[in-house]
Amino acid sequence: MIKGIKGVKDILPEETPRWRLIEETARRWAVLYGFHEIRVPIFEVTALFARSIGASTDIVEKEMYTFQDRDGTSITLRPEGTAGTVRAYIEHNRAADPLPQKYFYTGPMFRHERPQAGRLRQFHQFGVESFGVADPRADVEVIALLWRMLSDLKLPSMTLEINNLGYAADREAYRPQLVAFLKQREETLCGNCRRRIDANPLRVLDCKVPQCRAATEAAPRLADCLSEQARAHFGSVLGELEAIGIPYSLNHRLVRGLDYYCLTTFEVTSTSLGAQNAVGAGGRYDALVETLGGPVTPAVGFAVGVERMAMMLPLAASSSESASVYVAGFGDRGSAAGFSALEELRLAGIRAVTDFRSGSLKSHLRQADRLRSQFALIIGDDEVVKGSAILRDMETKVQQEVFLTSLSSQVSSLLRIS
Ligand code: ATP
Ligand code: MG
Repeated sequence: MIKGIKGVKDILPEETPRWRLIEETARRWAVLYGFHEIRVPIFEVTALFARSIGASTDIVEKEMYTFQDRDGTSITLRPEGTAGTVRAYIEHNRAADPLPQKYFYTGPMFRHERPQAGRLRQFHQFGVESFGVADPRADVEVIALLWRMLSDLKLPSMTLEINNLGYAADREAYRPQLVAFLKQREETLCGNCRRRIDANPLRVLDCKVPQCRAATEAAPRLADCLSEQARAHFGSVLGELEAIGIPYSLNHRLVRGLDYYCLTTFEVTSTSLGAQNAVGAGGRYDALVETLGGPVTPAVGFAVGVERMAMMLPLAASSSESASVYVAGFGDRGSAAGFSALEELRLAGIRAVTDFRSGSLKSHLRQADRLRSQFALIIGDDEVVKGSAILRDMETKVQQEVFLTSLSSQVSSLLRIS
């Protein structure tokens, strides 16, 4: 038997209503905030991700699904959605259109990680990107959208953490101080962090390993190296968040794994998620469009993990399918009339099912119960002779006669009354 790939999950029919609820809620809020859907490819040339995400990040170092195309081009399955969206923005010269250009996307992402609860190799994200506005209120708009959307889904015990990464020059000023501090404590750091000291020292602050956290407790803070301009931007973001009633907590350790962030960076976590506690994250990335060959374009965005939202969604918050009619056609003529009735009901917009077995009425009704149909439409040979059928409410067991000549309109109005 051929099995699915490790860390790559099937989303079965019992789970898809939760997924749809999440996707529909996310979409609805994104549209309310003026974002438009974009659909970008699942694979791109490797250089796009390598250049935008950054060579010394976990994703580019060890998580990308990269392969050679038949002509030798190096191709990568997208590990996130920002790079492709930025490429499309540049390639289609969207900067010529009125700014801001605000996009949202949803779909599968691919990272070669160690699979565990909430960490998959094919997973799904919903994300937004807002291009063209440097004003701190653009950051707030994106954070507000994320917060309203997650709150609407009633996901439990969420916290919005936020930090200021400053401008590249601020981080350059800070870096030698941090590196010097880390070098003194090199032995106490985990293997990953030891490598990060030179490659990407800020990431050490973000490490979840307890010894690393303890070792960096007294590390110099980026906040003390920030320029006046960076402080002012962040101050406005916090002020506006307060003004619209979005609660946050400052986390000076929050440094995102991707190189392209600057200034505002944020993450929403939940204590109900266990070890993989991040629901979604984002931030400002003013240099990325230019890095990828586009015009200077300030930008800000976020991405949330759909699997993690689905894990947190209260169980009751799911299925919303309309009432269904089970068509119980039996006997030669009854079966044939049943098949016509099935099609007629569907064409009239009524959800109709059957199992196509030519069983007895009793076995049909048992099947209707098993499929949780709200109604059964009973058509045996006798009914065909009379030109009628019986609509049975499976719960109350109340039965009503309907005429085959006006089947769908009669069934429709009976469904509306029940
Ligand atoms: P983490 O710290 O959990 O590795 P990350 O910083 O790699 O997260 P991002 O790249 O910011 O995550 O992606 C945003 C969101 O996408 C995460 O908050 C998480 O909900 C989800 N996500 C990321 N990687 C995975 C994965 N391998 N499986 C499932 N969801 C994921
Ligand atoms: Mg990760």
